[in-house]
Amino acid sequence: MQSKPPYEYSQNYDVVIIGGALSGAATAILLLRKNPAIRILVIEKSEKLTRRVGEATVEVSAYFIGHVLGMTQYLNDHHISKQGLRFWFANEKVKSLDQAAEVGPRYLARLPSYQLDRASFDEEVMRRAEEAGATIYVPRLFLMCSSFPAGNNR
Ligand SMILES: Cc1cc2nc3c(=O)[nH]c(=O)nc-3n(C[C@H](O)[C@H](O)[C@H](O)COP(=O)(O)OP(=O)(O)OC[C@H]3O[C@@H](n4cnc5c(N)ncnc54)[C@H](O)[C@@H]3O)c2cc1C
Repeated sequence: MQSKPPYEYSQNYDVVIIGGALSGAATAILLLRKNPAIRILVIEKSEKLTRRVGEATVEVSAYFIGHVLGMTQYLNDHHISKQGLRFWFANEKVKSLDQAAEVGPRYLARLPSYQLDRASFDEEVMRRAEEAGATIYVPRLFLMCSSFPAGNNR
């Protein structure tokens, strides 16, 4: 990732994405997959992504991350696979999880969801966006935007 301004390229990006976490980096990956020649700059203000909310995926987002972004192996290796919602009920007699009354699916889910560490996960998506060809530019806070006439957006 670059922390110095990519001045030499500043007029030559097809797409500039503000914010490099999951949405920004995934957008870069999908655009580059459709058109590998496209020039993308992702501007992320944080030098190091930290813990953030949004760590419990539902099945549809797990499908997107695993199957569409192609990160199933990474998810299985580095994050916790959930098998749907599961609840344990405790009272004064319960000393450990196996003693608690349990409610949840009885079979492994066909499509697992995951408990993510968003800091490391989002860093990994940004790393993959860079690997796919995007320029990731940090730290940089994007404050202003001006538009160009249609057809001249280079
Ligand atoms: C309380 C709460 C609980 C949630 N729980 C869940 C959950 O359990 N499961 C779930 O799937 N989702 C959950 N969500 C939703 C989830 O957090 C978001 O959908 C997800 O984080 C969106 O990812 P993102 O990449 O779009 O945005 P973000 O993760 O917010 O990333 C935006 C990025 O843009 C950068 N940025 C922002 N402004 C600028 C700027 N001006 N210039 C440069 N960079 C900038 C930031 O540094 C950041 O890295 C929850 C949300 C909230 C608020």
